[in-house]
Amino acid sequence: MRKVALVTGGSRGIGLAVALKLASSGYDIALNGTRSEAELDDVLNDIREKGARVVYCRGDIGVSSERQYVFEKLKKEFGRLHLLINNAGVAPRERRDAVDLTEESYDRVMGINLKAPFFLTQAAAKFMVEQKEADNSFSGCIINIGSISATVVSTNRAEYCISKAGFAMHSKIWAVWLAKYDIPVYEVRPGVIRTDMTSAVVEKYDRLIEEGLNIQPRWGMPEDVAVSVLSLARGHFPFSAGEVFMVDGGLTIGRL
Ligand code: NDP
Repeated sequence: MRKVALVTGGSRGIGLAVALKLASSGYDIALNGTRSEAELDDVLNDIREKGARVVYCRGDIGVSSERQYVFEKLKKEFGRLHLLINNAGVAPRERRDAVDLTEESYDRVMGINLKAPFFLTQAAAKFMVEQKEADNSFSGCIINIGSISATVVSTNRAEYCISKAGFAMHSKIWAVWLAKYDIPVYEVRPGVIRTDMTSAVVEKYDRLIEEGLNIQPRWGMPEDVAVSVLSLARGHFPFSAGEVFMVDGGLTIGRL
């Protein structure tokens, strides 16, 4: 039987690249996003064409009742979960200097980027442990899509950086908690990736990349992240639970 992966924010960008990669590698997909299913016809068909069963689990994971609905739908439709990809995340609606940051924006970004994956992971951890206890050959895995913003300061989007710094600890906490069940948790930490999230700052990053932002002088692409996720999900790093895997073209390598 095919394994099942839940990909939050799987309808676009990095999440969609991950979902497509997993779909062509033997996973059935529970795809989460906020838009209506009618808007995702093409996306869902693309995933099906990879040979996977896909179920759209619509919901804003920042809203507790919707997050619970997403998880219940996954359980009802598939009855199993092997891989959770905590990918959904948002940038601030407006980049504002830290001194002008509003509580509304802080709460929104922290709610979606940090609180939501914590409680989703809590539900997934319980469900995975249940499956493991029922069948010792069960193999589970959780992969968190973090960001270089966990360590790189942008004073004009403090709430995003703080959410990703907290998310790094989230990964460690669940890695420790789940290690005794042999369920590894990893953080994949992208740099600057070409998606809708960065579409408003293309010119700025084009210039920075040209000036040497990354040691690999190009944008990262969603597929760069997806192949890393697949390697981890396949168990290619069996003694690296809890680790951070950089996908940033060397952006965070200190240089003098
Ligand atoms: P996009 O903005 O391109 O896509 C965001 C995805 O998340 C969409 O599928 C969207 O669904 C979904 N989403 C947004 N909010 C919610 C919510 N409240 N509940 C459920 N789903 C939601 O983002 P990226 O692909 O660029 O980013 C994906 C992840 O990677 C994020 O966590 C981001 O922080 C991280 N990242 C991105 C980098 C980049 O340079 N792009 C760099 C480092 C990290 P819908 O289609 O319905 O709107």
